[in-house]
Amino acid sequence: MERKYQFDWDNTVGADMEQARPSLGPSTRIEVYRLFQFTLRDILEQHYGTEMADNLFREAGVMAGKAFFEKFLSDAKDAASLSAKVQDSFNTLGIGIFRVESAKEDNSHFIFTVDEDLDCSGLPDTSDVVCVYDEGFIQGVLESFSGKGFNVREIDCWCTGARTCRFEAKTAS
Ligand SMILES: [Zn+2]
Repeated sequence: MERKYQFDWDNTVGADMEQARPSLGPSTRIEVYRLFQFTLRDILEQHYGTEMADNLFREAGVMAGKAFFEKFLSDAKDAASLSAKVQDSFNTLGIGIFRVESAKEDNSHFIFTVDEDLDCSGLPDTSDVVCVYDEGFIQGVLESFSGKGFNVREIDCWCTGARTCRFEAKTAS
């Protein structure tokens, strides 16, 4: 298939933000990010249904997590330095406040939390988690780091009343 939009960091995100936005700088507001995300999500759901919309979002998250790993995390030597780098870059870029809540010694199972999450923090309560893109993102980072498959599911979300997003990651069997 011919692809017009094949993702590539330098060609679709941009390599030089100083040149791209000399006066406005590299930041925008969270409303703009959410406006984009939740309109796209609405349209995907209307066309393909909720489950497929979530799957597509998660898959895009995996792609993003892998690209993010290559860009910011690839010199992590072990799980501890990886989580320190994730925490750092998430802070610097305003993605959220990342913490490792628990980690099995063999790196087969993790619980992560993200406070003030870019996607959902402050949204009204619903009965369901909404951060499927983040699920994919974390999956992509872990898979790039370990070379193994991972399943990641959000088990608490701001939107479920938890006020923090909590993700469980397990190696895929
Ligand atoms: Zn969430």
